[in-house]
Amino acid sequence: MILVVGGAGYIGSQVNKQLNKDGFDTVVFDSLVTGHKWAVKWGEFVKGDLANLDEIRALFNKYKIEAVVDFAAFIEVGESVRDPQKYYYNNLVNTLNLLKVMGEFKIGKIIFSSTAATYGKPLYDQIEEGHPQWPINPYGWTKLMIERVFTDYDVAYGLKHVALRYFNACGADISGEIGEDHNPESHLIPIILDVALGKRKEIKIFGTNYKTRDGTCIRDYVHVEDLASAHILALKYILGGGKSKQYNLGNGIGFSVREVIRAVKKITKKEFVVVEGERRMGDPAVLVALSKRIKKELGWEPKYTKIEDIVESAWRWHRKKYKT
Ligand code: UDP
Repeated sequence: MILVVGGAGYIGSQVNKQLNKDGFDTVVFDSLVTGHKWAVKWGEFVKGDLANLDEIRALFNKYKIEAVVDFAAFIEVGESVRDPQKYYYNNLVNTLNLLKVMGEFKIGKIIFSSTAATYGKPLYDQIEEGHPQWPINPYGWTKLMIERVFTDYDVAYGLKHVALRYFNACGADISGEIGEDHNPESHLIPIILDVALGKRKEIKIFGTNYKTRDGTCIRDYVHVEDLASAHILALKYILGGGKSKQYNLGNGIGFSVREVIRAVKKITKKEFVVVEGERRMGDPAVLVALSKRIKKELGWEPKYTKIEDIVESAWRWHRKKYKT
Protein backbone atom coordinates (compact mmCIF):
# COMPACT_ATOMS: atom_id res chain seq x y z
CA MET A 1 0.00 0.00 0.00
CA ILE A 2 1.25 3.50 -0.87
CA LEU A 3 0.23 6.29 1.48
CA VAL A 4 -0.62 9.53 -0.35
CA VAL A 5 -0.61 12.31 2.22
CA GLY A 6 -2.43 15.35 0.88
CA GLY A 7 -3.90 13.23 -1.92
CA ALA A 8 -7.09 15.33 -2.08
CA GLY A 9 -5.20 18.35 -3.43
CA TYR A 10 -4.40 19.46 -6.94
CA ILE A 11 -1.16 17.54 -7.52
CA GLY A 12 -1.74 14.80 -4.93
CA SER A 13 -5.04 13.73 -6.49
CA GLN A 14 -3.41 13.53 -9.92
CA VAL A 15 -0.60 11.35 -8.56
CA ASN A 16 -3.11 9.21 -6.68
CA LYS A 17 -4.99 8.62 -9.92
CA GLN A 18 -1.80 7.72 -11.79
CA LEU A 19 -0.64 5.36 -9.03
CA ASN A 20 -3.92 3.45 -9.20
CA LYS A 21 -3.77 3.30 -13.00
CA ASP A 22 -0.27 1.87 -12.63
CA GLY A 23 -1.50 -0.91 -10.36
CA PHE A 24 -0.49 0.47 -6.95
CA ASP A 25 -2.93 0.26 -4.04
CA THR A 26 -3.22 3.61 -2.30
CA VAL A 27 -4.66 5.20 0.79
CA VAL A 28 -5.12 8.95 0.77
CA PHE A 29 -4.77 10.80 4.09
CA ASP A 30 -5.96 14.40 3.94
CA SER A 31 -7.38 16.92 6.39
CA LEU A 32 -9.56 18.45 3.65
CA VAL A 33 -8.55 21.90 4.91
CA THR A 34 -7.56 22.83 1.35
CA GLY A 35 -8.16 19.52 -0.46
CA HIS A 36 -11.44 18.19 -1.83
CA LYS A 37 -13.10 14.87 -1.11
CA TRP A 38 -14.41 14.79 -4.72
CA ALA A 39 -10.81 14.67 -5.95
CA VAL A 40 -10.20 11.30 -4.26
CA LYS A 41 -11.74 8.98 -6.82
CA TRP A 42 -9.24 6.15 -6.50
CA GLY A 43 -8.02 4.03 -3.59
CA GLU A 44 -8.99 4.33 0.05
CA PHE A 45 -9.55 7.58 1.90
CA VAL A 46 -8.92 8.52 5.54
CA LYS A 47 -9.66 12.03 6.78
CA GLY A 48 -7.08 13.12 9.30
CA ASP A 49 -4.49 15.66 10.27
CA LEU A 50 -0.72 15.35 10.56
CA ALA A 51 -0.94 17.60 13.61
CA ASN A 52 -2.32 14.58 15.46
CA LEU A 53 0.25 11.83 16.07
CA ASP A 54 -2.41 9.34 17.17
CA GLU A 55 -4.34 9.76 13.94
CA ILE A 56 -1.16 9.02 11.99
CA ARG A 57 -0.40 6.00 14.16
CA ALA A 58 -3.94 4.65 13.66
CA LEU A 59 -3.47 5.00 9.92
CA PHE A 60 -0.19 3.07 9.94
CA ASN A 61 -1.76 0.41 12.18
CA LYS A 62 -4.68 -0.06 9.82
CA TYR A 63 -2.79 -0.22 6.50
CA LYS A 64 0.39 -2.04 5.59
CA ILE A 65 2.28 0.93 4.15
CA GLU A 66 5.38 0.40 2.05
CA ALA A 67 6.19 3.98 1.13
CA VAL A 68 4.80 7.49 1.49
CA VAL A 69 4.20 10.19 -1.11
CA ASP A 70 3.72 13.48 0.72
CA PHE A 71 1.96 16.55 -0.72
CA ALA A 72 0.47 17.97 2.48
CA ALA A 73 1.43 21.62 2.84
CA PHE A 74 0.19 25.16 2.68
CA ILE A 75 1.51 26.73 -0.52
CA GLU A 76 0.66 30.45 -0.60
CA VAL A 77 3.87 32.46 -0.65
CA GLY A 78 2.22 35.75 0.37
CA GLU A 79 0.29 34.17 3.21
CA SER A 80 3.49 32.54 4.47
CA VAL A 81 5.01 36.01 4.84
CA ARG A 82 1.95 37.34 6.71
CA ASP A 83 1.48 34.28 8.92
CA PRO A 84 4.74 32.28 9.09
CA GLN A 85 3.65 30.40 12.22
CA LYS A 86 0.86 28.76 10.25
CA TYR A 87 3.46 27.57 7.72
CA TYR A 88 6.14 26.44 10.17
CA TYR A 89 3.59 24.39 12.11
CA ASN A 90 1.84 22.82 9.15
CA ASN A 91 4.68 22.35 6.71
CA LEU A 92 7.50 21.71 9.14
CA VAL A 93 6.20 20.41 12.50
CA ASN A 94 3.44 18.28 10.97
CA THR A 95 5.83 16.75 8.45
CA LEU A 96 8.16 15.92 11.36
CA ASN A 97 5.19 14.15 12.96
CA LEU A 98 4.75 12.08 9.82
CA LEU A 99 8.44 11.17 9.76
CA LYS A 100 8.31 10.29 13.46
CA VAL A 101 5.51 7.78 12.95
CA MET A 102 7.17 6.44 9.79
CA GLY A 103 10.21 5.79 11.98
CA GLU A 104 8.11 4.04 14.65
CA PHE A 105 6.67 1.74 11.97
CA LYS A 106 10.04 1.28 10.22
CA ILE A 107 8.84 2.82 6.96
CA GLY A 108 11.95 4.29 5.36
CA LYS A 109 10.85 5.58 1.95
CA ILE A 110 9.28 8.92 1.05
CA ILE A 111 8.66 11.04 -2.05
CA PHE A 112 8.29 14.68 -1.10
CA SER A 113 6.88 17.78 -2.83
CA SER A 114 9.56 20.41 -2.70
CA THR A 115 9.69 23.59 -4.71
CA ALA A 116 11.72 25.93 -6.87
CA ALA A 117 11.06 28.44 -4.05
CA THR A 118 13.89 26.72 -2.12
CA TYR A 119 16.36 28.38 -4.51
CA GLY A 120 15.26 31.90 -3.63
CA LYS A 121 16.43 34.67 -5.93
CA PRO A 122 17.98 32.98 -8.97
CA LEU A 123 21.66 33.80 -9.48
CA TYR A 124 21.39 32.74 -13.14
CA ASP A 125 18.63 31.76 -15.55
CA GLN A 126 18.59 28.01 -15.98
CA ILE A 127 18.48 26.53 -12.52
CA GLU A 128 19.97 23.11 -11.89
CA GLU A 129 19.80 21.22 -8.60
CA GLY A 130 23.20 22.51 -7.48
CA HIS A 131 22.04 26.17 -7.53
CA PRO A 132 22.43 27.67 -4.02
CA GLN A 133 19.30 27.32 -1.91
CA TRP A 134 18.45 30.44 0.07
CA PRO A 135 14.67 31.01 0.09
CA ILE A 136 13.19 34.50 0.17
CA ASN A 137 9.94 33.59 1.95
CA PRO A 138 8.80 31.33 4.83
CA TYR A 139 7.08 28.92 2.45
CA GLY A 140 10.39 28.20 0.71
CA TRP A 141 12.15 27.87 4.07
CA THR A 142 9.69 25.26 5.34
CA LYS A 143 10.35 23.12 2.28
CA LEU A 144 14.12 23.60 2.44
CA MET A 145 14.15 22.74 6.14
CA ILE A 146 12.43 19.44 5.41
CA GLU A 147 15.00 18.72 2.70
CA ARG A 148 17.65 19.29 5.37
CA VAL A 149 15.83 17.06 7.86
CA PHE A 150 15.77 14.30 5.21
CA THR A 151 19.54 14.46 4.82
CA ASP A 152 20.10 14.14 8.57
CA TYR A 153 17.47 11.37 8.96
CA ASP A 154 19.07 9.45 6.12
CA VAL A 155 22.46 9.50 7.89
CA ALA A 156 20.99 8.67 11.30
CA TYR A 157 18.02 6.41 10.52
CA GLY A 158 18.46 5.36 6.90
CA LEU A 159 15.35 7.22 5.67
CA LYS A 160 15.45 7.36 1.86
CA HIS A 161 13.78 10.27 0.11
CA VAL A 162 13.25 11.78 -3.30
CA ALA A 163 12.57 15.52 -3.07
CA LEU A 164 10.91 16.83 -6.23
CA ARG A 165 11.33 20.57 -6.70
CA TYR A 166 8.36 21.73 -8.74
CA PHE A 167 8.48 24.84 -10.86
CA ASN A 168 5.06 26.27 -11.90
CA ALA A 169 2.57 23.41 -11.68
CA CYS A 170 -0.28 23.91 -14.12
CA GLY A 171 -2.84 22.28 -16.41
CA ALA A 172 -5.38 19.62 -15.56
CA ASP A 173 -6.03 15.94 -15.99
CA ILE A 174 -6.33 15.35 -19.75
CA SER A 175 -9.46 13.23 -19.35
CA GLY A 176 -11.01 16.08 -17.34
CA GLU A 177 -11.76 14.11 -14.18
CA ILE A 178 -9.87 16.29 -11.71
CA GLY A 179 -8.11 19.65 -11.68
CA GLU A 180 -7.09 22.73 -9.81
CA ASP A 181 -9.48 24.37 -7.34
CA HIS A 182 -7.75 26.74 -4.94
CA ASN A 183 -9.61 29.20 -2.83
CA PRO A 184 -8.62 31.99 -3.17
CA GLU A 185 -6.90 31.39 -6.50
CA SER A 186 -3.54 33.12 -6.92
CA HIS A 187 -2.02 31.32 -9.89
CA LEU A 188 -1.70 32.92 -13.27
CA ILE A 189 -3.41 30.41 -15.60
CA PRO A 190 -6.59 29.78 -13.54
CA ILE A 191 -6.88 33.53 -12.91
CA ILE A 192 -6.77 34.30 -16.63
CA LEU A 193 -9.31 31.53 -17.28
CA ASP A 194 -11.58 33.13 -14.67
CA VAL A 195 -11.28 36.38 -16.61
CA ALA A 196 -12.08 34.58 -19.88
CA LEU A 197 -15.20 33.13 -18.22
CA GLY A 198 -16.25 36.56 -16.96
CA LYS A 199 -15.74 35.58 -13.29
CA ARG A 200 -13.17 38.36 -12.85
CA LYS A 201 -13.13 41.63 -14.69
CA GLU A 202 -9.50 41.79 -15.81
CA ILE A 203 -6.09 40.21 -15.70
CA LYS A 204 -3.39 42.41 -14.28
CA ILE A 205 0.17 41.79 -15.45
CA PHE A 206 2.53 42.18 -12.50
CA GLY A 207 5.29 44.22 -14.11
CA THR A 208 6.07 44.96 -17.75
CA ASN A 209 9.57 46.40 -17.39
CA TYR A 210 11.57 43.25 -16.65
CA LYS A 211 14.65 42.51 -18.74
CA THR A 212 12.93 39.75 -20.69
CA ARG A 213 11.88 39.39 -24.35
CA ASP A 214 8.56 41.22 -23.82
CA GLY A 215 9.12 42.88 -20.44
CA THR A 216 7.04 40.37 -18.44
CA CYS A 217 8.17 37.57 -16.12
CA ILE A 218 9.13 34.22 -17.55
CA ARG A 219 8.20 31.01 -15.73
CA ASP A 220 8.55 27.30 -16.32
CA TYR A 221 5.01 25.87 -16.52
CA VAL A 222 5.04 22.13 -15.92
CA HIS A 223 1.90 20.10 -16.52
CA VAL A 224 0.37 18.24 -13.59
CA GLU A 225 0.30 14.96 -15.56
CA ASP A 226 4.04 15.33 -16.15
CA LEU A 227 4.51 15.95 -12.42
CA ALA A 228 2.50 12.78 -11.79
CA SER A 229 4.65 10.67 -14.11
CA ALA A 230 7.78 11.93 -12.31
CA HIS A 231 6.35 10.82 -8.96
CA ILE A 232 5.66 7.33 -10.29
CA LEU A 233 9.25 7.06 -11.57
CA ALA A 234 10.60 8.36 -8.26
CA LEU A 235 8.48 5.92 -6.28
CA LYS A 236 9.57 2.93 -8.38
CA TYR A 237 13.16 4.06 -7.99
CA ILE A 238 12.97 4.32 -4.22
CA LEU A 239 11.01 1.06 -3.87
CA GLY A 240 13.79 -0.56 -5.89
CA GLY A 241 16.30 0.42 -3.22
CA GLY A 242 17.48 3.75 -4.69
CA LYS A 243 19.50 6.28 -2.72
CA SER A 244 18.13 9.66 -1.62
CA LYS A 245 17.86 12.20 -4.44
CA GLN A 246 16.71 15.72 -5.23
CA TYR A 247 15.31 16.53 -8.65
CA ASN A 248 13.97 19.61 -10.41
CA LEU A 249 10.67 19.22 -12.22
CA GLY A 250 10.23 21.76 -14.95
CA ASN A 251 9.72 21.46 -18.67
CA GLY A 252 12.77 23.64 -19.28
CA ILE A 253 10.85 26.05 -21.51
CA GLY A 254 9.93 29.43 -20.17
CA PHE A 255 6.81 31.37 -21.13
CA SER A 256 6.23 35.03 -20.39
CA VAL A 257 3.04 36.34 -18.79
CA ARG A 258 2.08 37.93 -22.13
CA GLU A 259 2.63 34.62 -23.94
CA VAL A 260 0.37 32.83 -21.47
CA ILE A 261 -2.33 35.49 -21.93
CA ARG A 262 -2.02 35.15 -25.71
CA ALA A 263 -2.39 31.36 -25.47
CA VAL A 264 -5.52 31.73 -23.33
CA LYS A 265 -7.06 34.12 -25.87
CA LYS A 266 -6.29 31.69 -28.67
CA ILE A 267 -7.64 28.58 -26.92
CA THR A 268 -10.73 30.15 -25.35
CA LYS A 269 -11.47 32.41 -28.36
CA LYS A 270 -12.46 35.10 -25.85
CA GLU A 271 -11.36 38.71 -25.68
CA PHE A 272 -10.82 40.23 -22.25
CA VAL A 273 -9.24 43.17 -20.46
CA VAL A 274 -5.49 43.05 -19.79
CA VAL A 275 -4.12 45.70 -17.42
CA GLU A 276 -0.42 46.48 -17.08
CA GLY A 277 0.27 46.76 -13.34
CA GLU A 278 3.18 47.18 -10.97
CA ARG A 279 5.69 44.46 -10.18
CA ARG A 280 4.75 42.01 -7.45
CA MET A 281 7.26 41.88 -4.58
CA GLY A 282 9.68 38.99 -4.62
CA ASP A 283 9.11 37.99 -8.26
CA PRO A 284 12.32 37.08 -10.11
CA ALA A 285 12.32 38.02 -13.81
CA VAL A 286 13.08 34.50 -15.03
CA LEU A 287 12.63 31.16 -13.32
CA VAL A 288 13.32 28.23 -15.60
CA ALA A 289 14.46 24.74 -14.63
CA LEU A 290 17.16 22.54 -15.94
CA SER A 291 15.68 19.09 -15.31
CA LYS A 292 18.48 17.10 -16.90
CA ARG A 293 19.16 15.10 -13.76
CA ILE A 294 15.79 13.34 -13.53
CA LYS A 295 15.68 12.87 -17.31
CA LYS A 296 19.05 11.18 -17.28
CA GLU A 297 18.71 9.19 -14.07
CA LEU A 298 15.04 8.18 -14.10
CA GLY A 299 14.15 8.65 -17.78
CA TRP A 300 11.49 11.32 -17.13
CA GLU A 301 10.29 13.19 -20.20
CA PRO A 302 7.62 15.91 -19.91
CA LYS A 303 4.93 15.50 -22.57
CA TYR A 304 3.18 18.86 -22.34
CA THR A 305 5.73 21.42 -23.45
CA LYS A 306 3.44 23.64 -25.54
CA ILE A 307 1.67 26.39 -23.62
CA GLU A 308 -1.44 25.94 -25.81
CA ASP A 309 -1.77 22.27 -24.78
CA ILE A 310 -1.33 23.18 -21.13
CA VAL A 311 -3.92 25.95 -21.33
CA GLU A 312 -6.33 23.73 -23.24
CA SER A 313 -6.37 21.06 -20.53
CA ALA A 314 -6.81 23.74 -17.85
CA TRP A 315 -9.61 25.37 -19.86
CA ARG A 316 -11.52 22.09 -20.28
CA TRP A 317 -11.36 21.54 -16.52
CA HIS A 318 -12.20 25.14 -15.69
CA ARG A 319 -15.42 25.06 -17.71
CA LYS A 320 -16.38 21.74 -16.15
CA LYS A 321 -15.78 23.18 -12.67
CA TYR A 322 -18.18 26.02 -13.36
CA LYS A 323 -20.47 23.85 -15.50
CA THR A 324 -20.35 26.21 -18.47
N1 UDP B 1 1.12 36.99 -12.49
C1 UDP B 1 0.53 38.11 -13.06
N2 UDP B 1 -0.76 38.41 -12.72
C2 UDP B 1 -1.51 37.65 -11.85
C3 UDP B 1 -0.91 36.48 -11.28
C4 UDP B 1 0.42 36.20 -11.62
O1 UDP B 1 1.15 38.83 -13.84
O2 UDP B 1 -2.67 37.99 -11.57
C5 UDP B 1 2.51 36.64 -12.85
C6 UDP B 1 3.46 36.57 -11.67
O3 UDP B 1 4.04 37.84 -11.43
C7 UDP B 1 4.49 35.56 -12.16
C8 UDP B 1 3.69 34.61 -13.07
O4 UDP B 1 2.50 35.34 -13.41
O5 UDP B 1 5.47 36.18 -12.95
C9 UDP B 1 3.31 33.32 -12.41
O6 UDP B 1 2.73 33.61 -11.15
P1 UDP B 1 2.05 32.53 -10.23
O7 UDP B 1 1.49 33.23 -9.03
O8 UDP B 1 1.10 31.70 -11.04
O9 UDP B 1 3.23 31.53 -9.82
P2 UDP B 1 4.64 31.84 -9.09
O10 UDP B 1 5.60 32.10 -10.22
O11 UDP B 1 4.46 32.97 -8.17
O12 UDP B 1 4.93 30.54 -8.41
